[in-house]
Amino acid sequence: MDTDDSRWLEKMISDFVENSPENSLRMDTGEKAWDEVLVGFSSGSDPLYKTYKDVVGEEHWTPLEAFSTKFPDFSGDPEDLTIISWILPQRGPTKEDNRKESFYPSRRWVQARFPGEEFNSALRKRIVRELDLKGIRSVAPLLLPEWKWGKSSKYVFSSNWSERHAAYAAGLGTFGLSDGLITEKGKAHRVGSVVANLRIPPSPRPYEDHHAYCLFYFDGSCTGCQKRCPVDAITESGHDKAKCWDHAGGTCARFVKEQFGFDGYGCGLCQTAVPCESGIPIKILKAMGRK
Ligand code: SF4
Ligand code: SF4
Repeated sequence: MDTDDSRWLEKMISDFVENSPENSLRMDTGEKAWDEVLVGFSSGSDPLYKTYKDVVGEEHWTPLEAFSTKFPDFSGDPEDLTIISWILPQRGPTKEDNRKESFYPSRRWVQARFPGEEFNSALRKRIVRELDLKGIRSVAPLLLPEWKWGKSSKYVFSSNWSERHAAYAAGLGTFGLSDGLITEKGKAHRVGSVVANLRIPPSPRPYEDHHAYCLFYFDGSCTGCQKRCPVDAITESGHDKAKCWDHAGGTCARFVKEQFGFDGYGCGLCQTAVPCESGIPIKILKAMGRK
């Protein structure tokens, strides 16, 4: 595979997001769950993936480890693998609804998580199937039975494959004070990835600092996400995952069951009504000469 094939992948992914009936909030309005997708590529030999063992935890897979979990017979090198990453941005009405909230998530926001994430998994499966039709082996790490999320050796919670860290490696965005990934389409989104046995030139990574797009780290001019958090889970030292989960996965889950009548959870207040909600802050783009 080469650059032309990366275009084929980008088109296949964007066509699926655009046209699949599964891209749906499953509300009476019939609206989609996700806006136009962003796609990026990173190499299995990118040294960043080794650093994630320190940053995320020793249990975090390298792309080779993730791939070999599904294909133990694989005898290739890390550079024979490409990680295809994507961002599914929240749509305008979903962000607008959550902007108005100050404690619980809006109905649309929760629908974007449940069933919206089901579409993200459908996309993972679609990519694996399309590659398979071309005779290329691939794996969606999050769909592996061995994928796990929970208490970690290093942090309160982490997983053995982080979609956001793969997206960072693929040049799609950098982390903010709240831990969210700030992309060209902002921080309100879901992320996904597939590791494939092919070589595609990595996407440019227009940053070196993992906090490059966050105004707090840029010049201290923003603590918007901190102010939005109803349970003080964000401080100038970062994101308290335990406090966040207690609210989003506990208090809000009970609210969702009572008010909306299904098992779901979410919060996302720190992803809406903030300067990085729908794009990289202009001040930062100007400083980078990109505006
Ligand atoms: S709201 Fe402000 S401080 Fe928080 S992540 Fe966005 S730019 Fe950074
Ligand atoms: S998701 Fe909600 S609880 Fe968690 S940090 Fe953001 S605003 Fe706070």
